[in-house]
Formats: sequence, C-alpha cells, structure tokens
Amino acid sequence: MLNLTYNYKIIPTKEQIEKIEHNLIVCKSVWNFALAERKLWYNSRSCPVNACSIKSEYVVPPFEYPNYHTQSANLTQAKKTNDFLKSGNAQAMQQTLRKLDRAFNDMKSKGKGFPRFKKQMKSFNLISNKFEVVGNKLRMPLLKEVRFIKSRDIPEGFKIKQVQIVKKASGYYVNLGIELDVDVSSPHPHGHAIGIDVGISSLLATSDGLTIKRPKFLNSVLRKIELLQRKLRNKIKGSGKYRKLQKRIALLYETTANRRKDYHFKLAHQLCDGVGMIFVEDINFTAWSRGRFCKQSLDMGLGQFFTTLEYICSQTDTYFAKVDKSYTSQICPNCGTHTGKKDLPERVHFCPECGYTQDRDIAAAEIVRERGLTRTRHLGLPQVREMSAAVGAPVVKQPCNGGLAGAIA
Ligand SMILES: [Zn+2]
Repeated sequence: MLNLTYNYKIIPTKEQIEKIEHNLIVCKSVWNFALAERKLWYNSRSCPVNACSIKSEYVVPPFEYPNYHTQSANLTQAKKTNDFLKSGNAQAMQQTLRKLDRAFNDMKSKGKGFPRFKKQMKSFNLISNKFEVVGNKLRMPLLKEVRFIKSRDIPEGFKIKQVQIVKKASGYYVNLGIELDVDVSSPHPHGHAIGIDVGISSLLATSDGLTIKRPKFLNSVLRKIELLQRKLRNKIKGSGKYRKLQKRIALLYETTANRRKDYHFKLAHQLCDGVGMIFVEDINFTAWSRGRFCKQSLDMGLGQFFTTLEYICSQTDTYFAKVDKSYTSQICPNCGTHTGKKDLPERVHFCPECGYTQDRDIAAAEIVRERGLTRTRHLGLPQVREMSAAVGAPVVKQPCNGGLAGAIA
C-alpha cells in the first residue's frame, strides 16, 4: 500500500465556510470534553504520598479509564439528546476522539507532553470512500462540492481515503490522504553510504565532508514577528487593530513554516542525490528541544527535517536508518580510539593515537556512517552491492519522478 498526502487550497462558498467553522467549534468541544474526562481519571488516581488523602484526593466514584471505545460509544449516546452535537458531522467528531487517543498514546510511547485543552480547533478529518475529484471541484460528504486550486494532478490510480480540512491564516486548505494498492518494498541498503551529524556550529555535516550552514532566511521573518508582537502588547485585546495585527502575525508564521518546509524538501533531495544509504543519529527531539539546543532546534525544526528526509529517502530508493548517537563526537573515526570529551568551542577532531585530523562535525558523521554500515551487516540485510563498493564511488540514480517512480519500482 502506498500512501501519500497532497495539499490543496480550497475556495469554499459562504455557506461552506459556515459549515467548516461550525464543525471546528463542535470538534473543539468534543476534544475538550473528552480530554477533561481523561484528565479527571488521571487526577482521581494521583494523590501525593505525603499528602492527606481527604484533602488531596479527588472525590469521584471510581470509574473505568475513558479510552477511545468508551468515549466513542458515549458520544453516539449523547448525540441522541444533544442538539449541539447532533448539528456536527459525526465522522469529524469521531476522528477528533481518535486524534485525542493518539495524543495520549504518543505521550506514553514517545514522551510527548500531556494533551492540552484547545482554544481553537484548526482542523478536522473526514474518512469516506465517496471522495471524488471532478475537474477543479472536490466532492465530499460534508461540503458536497467545493472548488479547489489544482496545483498538481492526483496521480493515476490513487483513491482518496481521507480528507483533512485545515484552517490557516491565509484561508482554508485540504490535505488529501491518497492511497494506491501496490506492493511497496522499502529500499534495501545499497550503493554509496553517508552519515549525517546534527552539528553545533553548522546545521548538519555529512561524512562526505559537506557542511550545511544554518539558513539565514528565517531570521528576518522572526525579527519581524517579534516586532509585531511587541506592538500587539500595546493594543486593546479584541479591538479591530488588535485583530488585524494578530492576523498579520499568523500570516508571517505561516510563511515561515512554508519556507522552512520548502527548504527541508530541497535539502533532503540534495542529500539523497547519488546516495544509496543514509544514516542519522537517533535523537529524541522532544527532549532535545527542551535542552540547550532549544532555540536553534525550534527555529530549524530538525525533527521535522528528519521526518522529511526519511520520506524523501523512501521516494528515491534510498535506504534510511537511525543509529545510536552516544559518543559520536568522542571516538576517532580512523582508529576507534576514545579521544575524550570535546568542549563546545573545540572545532577540530585530533586523534593523539593515529594523528587523524578532521572537522569535528564531519568526524562525528563518519562515526554515524560506520555504525550504520555495521548495523546493516549485523541485520544481515540483503545487499545489492558489496560493502567495499559502498564507500566508493557514488551511484547514478534515476531522478525522483514525482515521487512515484522510485517508490513503485
Ligand atoms: Zn585515531
């Protein structure tokens, strides 16, 4: 099964906008109610050991944990008597509960934060097999027929399985989840291998000696946002000028996100070019962004970049794997000696054992590549070419043809 997401801007009519806005409000209430229910369960079970249980314990009768299934069943029941819930789209509400369930699962498995109450819902999902594109119109259950800007064609043979309607500062968008029924084998390790190290002075470095600087283009926009936010503080909340400024800030944020995404895609394609295997460090970006890399990594969205890179790899028949990140900056890539901890300003790796000298980030990237290659050898993954050739000359690859040719081949 091949799944892709295509993004389009839609041009809804006045009535359609009303429908979208109404469903966003309904979904927001569903989210907040379901979250409150789960929160109550958590709180009812947590009483500090050193506190008096009469004062600190929640006094609620014991109830079962409200998981997705019970919440979904309760919603169906509540809809029978509640007109407000009845007015919303059933699918959209159900999917909102699913999203909340996923947020709780991510919290447990990926160490993400406790889900929050929403002041504003920005999107909802619809699942159906009745989606259809006719010309420049999208047919779907809730909105019937909505005009959209067909910035690119949906590839032949794909079926639309899911539609996400997203509200942004610049208007309304749809994310179409499309699916093709084919066998997709993930790329095998083959060809030239590179390791990537997330640098300190540079954005990243590869074992081939390429270092990528932090792009400057975001700085100017961020400075503008800061300036507008300072202005916003002097305005009366809710006034016309306040709202106008707020909208300008939201638009700037959107531009920043778009530019960043664009940059990530270009960079990922550049890295995949002529390469058969890419190895990166296995970094927990959630924990990372709370640490000393806070500002840089948030500006850059490195976690997002790694996800993009993994996606582009799958589209260009490039093998992608994460490797253990410990001590990458302390081991000599030439002889394997532990050279000890480097201070932050220390830019160069110098090995006292073998005399190997290299840029610090590039040396770390070389370690990442070595680990990746060792790992594929251990896993006994089928190799297209001998490992000795892997470190040699780059392989000429077919260009990525709309992402499809590489993935199906
Ligand atoms: Zn050495």
